[in-house]
Amino acid sequence: MNNIIRIVDLEVFAKHGVLDEEQRIGQKFLFSADIFTDIQKAALFDDIKLSTDYADVCRRIVDYNTENTFRLIETAAVKTCEMLLCDFPLIEGVRLEIKKPWAPVGLPLDYVGVAAEKKWHNAFVAFGSNMGDRKKYIDTAISELKQTKGCKVIKVSDTIQTKPYGNTDQQDFLNGVMMIRTFLEPETLLDRLHEIENNAGRKRTVHWGPRTLDLDIILYDNIIFDSEYLTIPHYDMHKRRFVLEPLAQIAPFVRHPVLNITAIEMLKEIE
Ligand code: ATP
Ligand code: CA
Ligand code: CA
Repeated sequence: MNNIIRIVDLEVFAKHGVLDEEQRIGQKFLFSADIFTDIQKAALFDDIKLSTDYADVCRRIVDYNTENTFRLIETAAVKTCEMLLCDFPLIEGVRLEIKKPWAPVGLPLDYVGVAAEKKWHNAFVAFGSNMGDRKKYIDTAISELKQTKGCKVIKVSDTIQTKPYGNTDQQDFLNGVMMIRTFLEPETLLDRLHEIENNAGRKRTVHWGPRTLDLDIILYDNIIFDSEYLTIPHYDMHKRRFVLEPLAQIAPFVRHPVLNITAIEMLKEIE
């Protein structure tokens, strides 16, 4: 079901642009947005407090784009989407188009436009530690993720103590899984997880060797994605008890998009 609030051609006088004159003098931009938000509850009670106030949204778009200057309208579009997702808790997604009717092209045209789309995604991140103060590394990682713009930690499983996997001559692990909402794209999320691992002093020496902190993306919506650096769903999650047990605790019915079975069913299969 599409619940949309639509804003069309909101005029904003801003200084986005690569040219000196554009940044000095400014020009007119037209902002259009499809705001994906639940309007059913507001409709049921006929109450603005249950919806997203489009007047507020328009004002924020104008303020944000006059207070900030970007060289590219691509940047302005993506950043404006992110700002709306951060500032309005009921907004689930935004599709935004910026038109530049006075674009300095030197040829007759109506406008040049750029459209961007951003939304909150559900993802599951597995965490593990088997060196030093394991609980502290994990707690710090969770709070660093909470403080990351574009990430909200929704649920954290209990941690379980497990024997090391693969290379077994090392300290036991503390493992768990958290559910997050994020508007970071999968690769950007992975970069952020690597940063948090590095902050915990993670060294990449022995594969499956002891580590202060390991953060893996297990699932991200129901996308199936494979590149040199990132495989989603995590290639081995359906075989690992230390992933499936905590996952089944916080999201028993979440499905593996390739195997099409739930966390509980995956757990049963390995038992
Ligand atoms: P395993 O992947 O078997 O759990 P590991 O977590 O110990 O082993 P790492 O050394 O932490 O392996 O990661 C190696 C690389 O795996 C990372 O640099 C990253 O680019 C890649 N990778 C691929 N898919 C994922 C994913 N879903 N989550 C995290 N990293 C991934
Ligand atoms: Ca891992
Ligand atoms: Ca890893």
